[in-house]
Amino acid sequence: MRFVFLKHKPIFPAITAIAGLLSVFVGGCSMPADRYAPQIITPPAVSVRQIGSSVQGRSIDCIQFGYAGPRILILAAIHGNEPASYVLAEALRQYLSSHRTLYSNRVILLIPIANPDGLSAGTRDNVNRVDLNRNFPADNRQDTSRFGLMALSEPESMALYDLIENENPERILSIHQPYGCIDYDGPARILASRMALWCDLPVRKVGALPGSLGSWAGETRKIPIITLEMTAEDTALTQEQIWDRYGRAVLDFISAP
Ligand SMILES: [Zn+2]
Repeated sequence: MRFVFLKHKPIFPAITAIAGLLSVFVGGCSMPADRYAPQIITPPAVSVRQIGSSVQGRSIDCIQFGYAGPRILILAAIHGNEPASYVLAEALRQYLSSHRTLYSNRVILLIPIANPDGLSAGTRDNVNRVDLNRNFPADNRQDTSRFGLMALSEPESMALYDLIENENPERILSIHQPYGCIDYDGPARILASRMALWCDLPVRKVGALPGSLGSWAGETRKIPIITLEMTAEDTALTQEQIWDRYGRAVLDFISAP
């Protein structure tokens, strides 16, 4: 027995040494990450979230481009019978998806369809026959059945109101048809003039309408807001033609200092 033991004894240290080397080698390759090291988590550059629902239950979505810096809000189709506004918003969404430098130091919030029931039915108002763009708590608001019996009586306008209060955008662009001009409310005159250099529309100060988004955001909240009124003829254009006509003005709105 003693002989056998002596004969085999040297084998065990050798195996142990080899196993040790292997464990160092293998272990060195698969060392777990330092659990205490700070981890940098980068949010997605583009994300979509639901900010509310229409009267008929359609989702009101906000696409967020970028995750740091001042907020810019762009919305379309708050009037459902202005379909070219949605087409321009959709063209912008596609452009932004492949031009990330535009939101490397800012956040762009895009709501392509603010009044989904109206756009589906082709009506200006929502299904309660309320003009959502008269339903905001502006100083000049009027309580009527057409404008809503009280401010923010409609879920669609409430969703926009909440988003603006939560995100506090530094400027807003609301896209409409068919008056063919660049209107503005609040401290946005220079912004409107800049945009007019990049498209065929003139700057025209329409004036604060009762309970409009422009009246509330621009005049009451002092957020610069542009109302881009596309033309009636734009409804017949393709998305590419619409982008060709208005894209540079919209991009200037985004990149203006
Ligand atoms: Zn409109």
